[in-house]
Amino acid sequence: MQTYLNLIKNIQSIDPVRYAKSRNYTNGGVTKLSAYIARGVIDTSLVLDTLMQEGYSFNEVRGFAQQLAWRDFFQRVWQQQLTAIDTDLKHVQTGVLHQQIPSAIIDAQTGIDAIDHAIHELEKEGYMHNHVRMYTAFLACNVMGAHWLKPAKWMYYHLKDGDWGSNALSWQWVAGTFSNKKYIANQENINRFTGSNQQGTMIDCAYEALETLQIPERFHLKSPLTHSTQLPSVKALEIDESLPVLLYNYYNLSPTWYANEKVNRVLLLEPSHFEQYPISQNCLDFALELANEISELHIYVGDFESFEMAYPNAQFVFKEHPLNNHYRGKEEARNWLLSNHSVPANSFFNYWKKCEKALEKKYASS
Ligand SMILES: Cc1cc2nc3c(=O)[nH]c(=O)nc-3n(C[C@H](O)[C@H](O)[C@H](O)COP(=O)(O)OP(=O)(O)OC[C@H]3O[C@@H](n4cnc5c(N)ncnc54)[C@H](O)[C@@H]3O)c2cc1C
Repeated sequence: MQTYLNLIKNIQSIDPVRYAKSRNYTNGGVTKLSAYIARGVIDTSLVLDTLMQEGYSFNEVRGFAQQLAWRDFFQRVWQQQLTAIDTDLKHVQTGVLHQQIPSAIIDAQTGIDAIDHAIHELEKEGYMHNHVRMYTAFLACNVMGAHWLKPAKWMYYHLKDGDWGSNALSWQWVAGTFSNKKYIANQENINRFTGSNQQGTMIDCAYEALETLQIPERFHLKSPLTHSTQLPSVKALEIDESLPVLLYNYYNLSPTWYANEKVNRVLLLEPSHFEQYPISQNCLDFALELANEISELHIYVGDFESFEMAYPNAQFVFKEHPLNNHYRGKEEARNWLLSNHSVPANSFFNYWKKCEKALEKKYASS
């Protein structure tokens, strides 16, 4: 885990030009910032501002800014569509054989070495390169015939950067339910971007042949999603109801939020949330380590309603988030690359055009 100060140093040392050229390769210049962005330690706007202070022109950071914009875009879609992102958003997924997870994916037995290796790494380290996430989703949905939802939850469970907006919508993008075409890749493409040189796999064929691919029977085996999250047991809280209560959660672990102010700080871990979107022990431990960086943060395991009942006179303060709509109290805006939340989030490229224009203006005058 990186401390906040280390993170800032790492952002300052990003080479955005190398990033744009190499990000699609598994050995490319990716930043691994996502776990900290997803957990709300830093935000996309802070990342870009910090990098721009290094003296780059907007042209040099454009490619990097566009990737940050994907994240904000997915968050906006989630904010606008709420739980509808758990269902096929634009088109119904075609070619669905089942609603479970292909066993070959869970067992890292796809026969494609670069993918199987990356699945082991995902389970161990909680990270997978973006391109490999796309390949994995492609295999699960577009080759092995799974509906995207359960495999997405499996991947989310393991990712330290698990962000249900980016996750569900990326899976939907690959499966063709949030895009107009299913994503496909063949072995040659995988070899090129992962530095492997494998031949003879089930997808070692031309793109046209992928359309009518006959796969071995074992790739039709499926497993249910059986994951759950063991939340910590915690001591009773002591709250000073004369002071505001700042609500932190799995998506807001900001160490700078009202830092040095006299407030109550409570990390709310709602069992109902983790039942719906389970995370691994690895991910929970990572989040609790981040929580340790926030001084005098107390943990409450229970739903918001029971917390509110226990402290009826408290003034709650929380950050806007699609998962916080049932909180009551003072809601604060988050930082975005494009703070205008009324921009319709129906197409990334429309969203990016607006964002790009606003950023060009912002950094031209700075
Ligand atoms: C199937 C699938 C599932 C995904 N699930 C998640 C998830 O649960 N959580 C998550 O944060 N991202 C998810 N992504 C998006 C992307 O893979 C990760 O954000 C990225 O790989 C994180 O690594 P990084 O920080 O090294 O990225 P970098 O390439 O260094 O990018 C810098 C930042 O830009 C943003 N970003 C980059 N690429 C994307 C992208 N394609 N979509 C959205 N934001 C992007 C991230 O905030 C990232 O930290 C998923 C993508 C796919 C295809």
